Amino acid sequence: MIRVIVAGGGWSGCAAALSAAKAGAQVLLIERTDLLLGTGLVGGIFRNNGRYTAAEEAIAMGGGDLFVAMDANSRHKGIQFPGHNHASFYDVTTMEPLVKKILQNYGVEIRMMTRIIDVQKYGKKLQALLLDSGELVKGDAFVDATGTAGSMGNCLTYGNGCAMCVLRCPSFGPRVSVTAKADVKEILGQRADGSFGAMSGSCKLNKDSLSEEIRLQLESDGVVILPIPEKLRKKNSLAKKACSQYALPAYAENLVLLDTGHAKLMTPYFPLEDLRSIAGLERVRFEDPYAGGIGNSMRYLGIAPCDDTLKVDGVDNLFCSGEKSMILVGHTEAVVTGLLAGHNAVRYGLDMRYLTYPRTLAVGDFISFIHGQMLQEEGKKMRYTFSGGLYFARMQEMGLYSVNRLEISERVVAAGLGDIFSGCLV
Ligand SMILES: Cc1cc2nc3c(=O)[nH]c(=O)nc-3n(C[C@H](O)[C@H](O)[C@H](O)COP(=O)(O)OP(=O)(O)OC[C@H]3O[C@@H](n4cnc5c(N)ncnc54)[C@H](O)[C@@H]3O)c2cc1C
Repeated sequence: MIRVIVAGGGWSGCAAALSAAKAGAQVLLIERTDLLLGTGLVGGIFRNNGRYTAAEEAIAMGGGDLFVAMDANSRHKGIQFPGHNHASFYDVTTMEPLVKKILQNYGVEIRMMTRIIDVQKYGKKLQALLLDSGELVKGDAFVDATGTAGSMGNCLTYGNGCAMCVLRCPSFGPRVSVTAKADVKEILGQRADGSFGAMSGSCKLNKDSLSEEIRLQLESDGVVILPIPEKLRKKNSLAKKACSQYALPAYAENLVLLDTGHAKLMTPYFPLEDLRSIAGLERVRFEDPYAGGIGNSMRYLGIAPCDDTLKVDGVDNLFCSGEKSMILVGHTEAVVTGLLAGHNAVRYGLDMRYLTYPRTLAVGDFISFIHGQMLQEEGKKMRYTFSGGLYFARMQEMGLYSVNRLEISERVVAAGLGDIFSGCLV
């Protein structure tokens, strides 16, 4: 039996483990913390703008289990907020156990609180991963889904220091990239001024620390918009954000709160005393990062060079997904790349031709377009998502954006990929 080892249990690692298991492999998923979902533990927004199309493409390809779970665990659906239509918000406080159950139902072995610290490589092939316990775990094919967030050193060098985010590096040890350990030179995302990395673009407030009026409105409408007094507006705050889809004036002029279980505040950080000077927020405190008054996690520091099949350059049996595979932002983006990487890891084991998503699908155009952009210096300074910015504009121009389920599934069938992830390859 083909053994696929997935490094990192964020959304992309979970999707890779799922598609590899569905394709018939024996799958081991390794996560360094005590929770799956990685940065997805504090996200929640999906199906907004072009993410709707991408999720439906994955569903039509037979890889929709995780989106169906997000839908089933949504606090709000069909929400509009600045620059975004038909958004759903999954409940970040209850999502993780549900995903773990789905993976276990597919027979994925999950090892939590297990950190990969090195690799064993022979020629151009990975043989095993070395765990912090000293154990070597062998596999036929591997997926690097370790993300790009942190570690503390990066947050200190490129950001405002460790803000104590949900990744909890001091407790579980910093992120380690399988790709880098395999001696592959990684790519660094950049900001507009050429400096490296980007700061995560939102934080979470404790809902009970909001005024009752704001909390009730947030829970009924899913969104609350509070104007920021002129003197508290931050100049250049938009340029720092990891999420280009929120780099709109509405986010500099207002506090946008979304109900994802906690109150998601759509700004990288906000000094606590300033926040508390706004009516209704007098008692407010941060849920994530705990030091959300001073900073947030830094990302895009360590992206694997790879082709559109998501095979890492220079290593025959290593694939990558999520933020590790390109400068992408989002759970949806992580899941669709994870599905492809996990599936191709099984194809490697069977000596089959790798799958690429065709450019007639949003998911295929997305991957090829970003990989092309990343070859250019200016392209490395952008962040890409189905939900806004440059790529959503392109998606609309190319006629790839649709919220018509039937049309999307017909497109997938026409591309020859209907239910491709449902079939067992072995
Ligand atoms: C604060 C914040 C809010 C966000 N909000 C949203 C949102 O609302 N909607 C949206 O679509 N996107 C959102 N995003 C972006 C989105 O969460 C990410 O782009 C996406 O989920 C990345 O998934 P990933 O699997 O590639 O990486 P990650 O989520 O970073 O997961 C990587 C995993 O690998 C593990 N890992 C790392 N190194 C090792 C190792 N050596 N051994 C074992 N495990 C390891 C980590 O612990 C982690 O669990 C948000 C991001 C942040 C930071």
